[in-house]
Amino acid sequence: MKTENKDFLPFAMPILGQEEIDEVVDTLKSGWITNGPKTKKFSEKIKAYLNCRNAIPVGSCTFGLHLSLRALGIKEGDEVITTPFTFLATVNSILYQRATPVFVDIMKENYNIDPNKIEEKITEKTKAIIPVHHSGNPCDMDKIMKIADENNLLVIEDAAHSIGAEYKGKKLGLIGNVGCYSFYPTKSMTTSEGGAVVTNDDSLAEKIELLSFNGADRNAWKRESSKGSWYYEILDLGYKYYMTDVQAAIGLHQLDKLDEFIRIREKCARLYNKLFSDVPEVSIPKVVDDCKPARHLYPIIIDTESLKIGRDEFMIKLKDMGVGSSVHFIPMHMQPYYKKRFGFNDNDYPNSKWVFERIISIPLHAKMNDEDVIDVVEKIKSIIESERI
Ligand SMILES: *Cc1c(COP(=O)(O)O)cnc(C)c1O
Repeated sequence: MKTENKDFLPFAMPILGQEEIDEVVDTLKSGWITNGPKTKKFSEKIKAYLNCRNAIPVGSCTFGLHLSLRALGIKEGDEVITTPFTFLATVNSILYQRATPVFVDIMKENYNIDPNKIEEKITEKTKAIIPVHHSGNPCDMDKIMKIADENNLLVIEDAAHSIGAEYKGKKLGLIGNVGCYSFYPTKSMTTSEGGAVVTNDDSLAEKIELLSFNGADRNAWKRESSKGSWYYEILDLGYKYYMTDVQAAIGLHQLDKLDEFIRIREKCARLYNKLFSDVPEVSIPKVVDDCKPARHLYPIIIDTESLKIGRDEFMIKLKDMGVGSSVHFIPMHMQPYYKKRFGFNDNDYPNSKWVFERIISIPLHAKMNDEDVIDVVEKIKSIIESERI
């Protein structure tokens, strides 16, 4: 028996239960619907889950990345190294700080930044590296942290896909100076829109939290005891980037379910791996040894050279057969805005371009079972059979 998606299997979907619904209703009825007790509780829960010192819930991972760069002092004239093979948030957070993104190409086998190409891009202006763990599959953090140490660079992990993933026993997001998770609806767990910044650096966390609340110190009234709780002091140019209790209400229960979500996705991913092992036209993402990936996505590479159709047509055929898919990502250097601003050429980052032209994220979420996986693989095989050159 396939799961309830009888006619169409989406590539990702939010999985929400009665617990989330009840908690949101409870929040709405409480009268406290912006940042408050539930966000505080969500923060405590994330800290306990990750066993880390600080977790700051924010309105999105984009906000989290921007706050992290700002709090770490990234500013105009600085260069920040990352990959073009990412969501726009990674690059925009650098641009919001008027710093310059410097791209390093990815590796074809796992779509993550190639650590061997980082050093050649380091200049006196380089201040930080933002590794993006594609689909919750860890970057080579040993090499990246070594390069960062030797060159005195900060590391901000774009762990948007990666809550719950581990690299050699360490949680992704907590290996660099700071890490950012996304709770967007298609991500591993959701709060509708939302994200969290995590770090074991207390003073950095304090800065990030202050900046997320408009730069306003809401505890100032405790010092100025003659004043009431209405009193606050603005200490910095901050942003209205905090999470609301409505979002946190969802997150409280999603976090309880996260390990189960990951377990099911891992099970499906392993079955995909097995079933694709005798399909030479399909390459599967390579996971680094000693790691526990979050399996946010299951991206495959289609060998378009051996087929009569390209990736786009392949996706349309899949859709016609009731299988959803998507592309992660359209490389940033191939997007009109960045091309115009930085004069990029499509061929500047050949691996990113190569992967982009062949990659497909096929269905992977915790509502799937073995039957669904087998069905998707059968359909992919049938397209390959009929389109083989
Ligand atoms: C989704 C995503 C983000 C941004 O997350 P939001 O919560 O939507 O702001 C950042 N980086 C990567 C790699 C992403 O996929």
